[in-house]
Amino acid sequence: VIDKGQPEHSVITTCAYCGVGCSFKAEMKGDEVIRMVPYKGGDANHGHSCVKGRFAFGYATHKDRIKQPMIRDSIDQPWREVGWEEAIAFAAQRLKAVQAEHGRESIGGITSSRCTNEETYLVQKLVRAAFGNNNTDTCARVCHSPTGYGLKLTLGESAGTQTFDSVMQADTIIVIGANPTDAHPVFGSQMRRRLREGAQLIVIDPRRIDLLKTPHLKDAQHLALRPGTNVALVNALAHVVIDEGLEDTQFIAERCDTQAYQAWRDFISDQRHAPERVESITGVPAEAVRRAARSYAKAANGAIYYGLGVTEHSQGSTMVIGIANLAMATGNLGREGVGVNPLRGQNNVQGSCDMGSFPHELPGYQHVADAAVRGRFERAWGVALDDEPGLRIPNMFDAAIAGTFKALYVQGEDIAQSDPNTQHVEAALRSLECLIVQDIFLNETAKFAHVLLPGSTFLEKNGTFTNAERRINRVRKVMAPLAGKEDWEVTVALSNALGYPMDYRHPSEIMDEIARLTPTFSGVDYDKLERLGSIQWPCDERHPDGTPTMHVEDFPIGRGHFAITEYLATEERTNGRFPLLLTTGRILSQYNVGAQTRRTHNQVWHDEDVLEVHPHDAEVRGISDGDWLGISSRSGQTVLRARISERMLAGVVYTTFHHPGSGANVITTDSSDWATNCPEYKVTAVQVEKVSQP
Ligand code: SF4
Repeated sequence: VIDKGQPEHSVITTCAYCGVGCSFKAEMKGDEVIRMVPYKGGDANHGHSCVKGRFAFGYATHKDRIKQPMIRDSIDQPWREVGWEEAIAFAAQRLKAVQAEHGRESIGGITSSRCTNEETYLVQKLVRAAFGNNNTDTCARVCHSPTGYGLKLTLGESAGTQTFDSVMQADTIIVIGANPTDAHPVFGSQMRRRLREGAQLIVIDPRRIDLLKTPHLKDAQHLALRPGTNVALVNALAHVVIDEGLEDTQFIAERCDTQAYQAWRDFISDQRHAPERVESITGVPAEAVRRAARSYAKAANGAIYYGLGVTEHSQGSTMVIGIANLAMATGNLGREGVGVNPLRGQNNVQGSCDMGSFPHELPGYQHVADAAVRGRFERAWGVALDDEPGLRIPNMFDAAIAGTFKALYVQGEDIAQSDPNTQHVEAALRSLECLIVQDIFLNETAKFAHVLLPGSTFLEKNGTFTNAERRINRVRKVMAPLAGKEDWEVTVALSNALGYPMDYRHPSEIMDEIARLTPTFSGVDYDKLERLGSIQWPCDERHPDGTPTMHVEDFPIGRGHFAITEYLATEERTNGRFPLLLTTGRILSQYNVGAQTRRTHNQVWHDEDVLEVHPHDAEVRGISDGDWLGISSRSGQTVLRARISERMLAGVVYTTFHHPGSGANVITTDSSDWATNCPEYKVTAVQVEKVSQP
């Protein structure tokens, strides 16, 4: 790291990586960022940061940044650099031509959880008002869409219930399918502090995560379950609560729908959910399940934190519902130290969902079929809106291959690398007549594009991100956009070229519009954000300064709703040909597909994805550390280097997907969550064999 001396000035902004949403001071010399210093006044991070965030500014000025719009007639032609006006006109003309020939429903747009709330809001507005359909979806589809579904159904709001600081009041902490010290490092450290103070830890994960190595842990429990058996396990935990009379009868009577509770109680009391009966499914000893259920239910404050190991399954939504059932049954909601807390992977997963990116919901999770809601948006936007939900991302791919979906606008998302079954995604993209990619680098998706519009990084724009605790943080422009436009300005230009006028001078005006149309944001504006530093929604007349803890007095749906969670085994089964289960995750120094972190200082810590293999599985295959391994599944093959690790269960292998060459998504399955189509990244049956160097 080069010491660049004293800054001339600084700007406070928000990290653009994970869902913690740390505040930083970007220290500047002239137009150059010389360092990022964690901001002590940051409400989410209180002056802490991780290695990713500190070096994030590196990618903003990387030589690979796209600085000029580019167009081409077909994907086998070379790119032609053009000015903004020509590129926007080309894109608009192509979209219009596709709709004229193939119909209004033949085009759509994908928003990004890396972009700001204001940018995301504009993309879904573009799709609904200018494209005239609801074919808008977000990359949250492939991570936390089951959270949106499951928490809305049970608790009435598609969001986590607590602040991060709430963990400091928790007595028993359950972490399910998450690895906070790697994926949410600042919050992971905070959780560690609470564990060192004596809180009890229960980890439900096939992998031995680093939290379990926290020094001086009091009686930590690790339920190392088989991938794909989450729902069986959460049902067994709930069964113990009822079986041993550990439920919070007062909370249930006063706060929950007692009829739904009784139906759920009858369901969960059945002996088929007893830990002793479920042991053969999950692989977790019955006594360990009983002990964990007692620890959680008897704790003064029991808190559950979960990640993609919960959502990215064929029963992802069922598992989210199961977690909410467990929290309601034990009264662990509505105060500090408890709650149901999804750890969002990207900086603005919460925000992109809040802003109406889903094909069935307008901003604020308001359904498109609700005539009163639609009428409000129609009056504000001056256009009639479609009342039918549009296509989800996987449906867009299927429709593209079927020949009914012909054009796509993708802002800030590398679907070719991040979505499952790469061959299928590439075939879909190749079949489009018009693919418009707006991004900061020439990513894998751009290889199939006809229009490339330069994106802007978080340092080049104004706006807001919403973190995993519903906290709306300001993103402030630190330097001028390298290509001359912020992302929201590009969407505005495209909309105007399509004939649907948009007119904003600053993202604050977009937020004012969001507040007018979204009840949970009705009290949010940039002046208040300046005054308070950050705001946790709901922010409305009842909660003018925001809501740190949700569901204190009631639920948005009145009473908490228990729902039935029948366990169904995943269709992805091991057999003689594919005897191991592959699961995927992230590491501390890298972020998702690595497009940003691979272009920063972080690259020095991690230059390839590896396959973690349990010593037993390695021994029977004659595998040593560093060997090249061929990994094959029912979907495809890839090659990775071996790392022998005791962190995995025997029979389970693990890899990351930070590099384009990893091929992780070439081998992952086509299965997805029954309610939301979130892909089942976490369970793929594979075979692993030693191969010579690729
Ligand atoms: Fe904070 Fe996450 Fe950024 Fe690290 S990556 S600085 S934990 S927001």
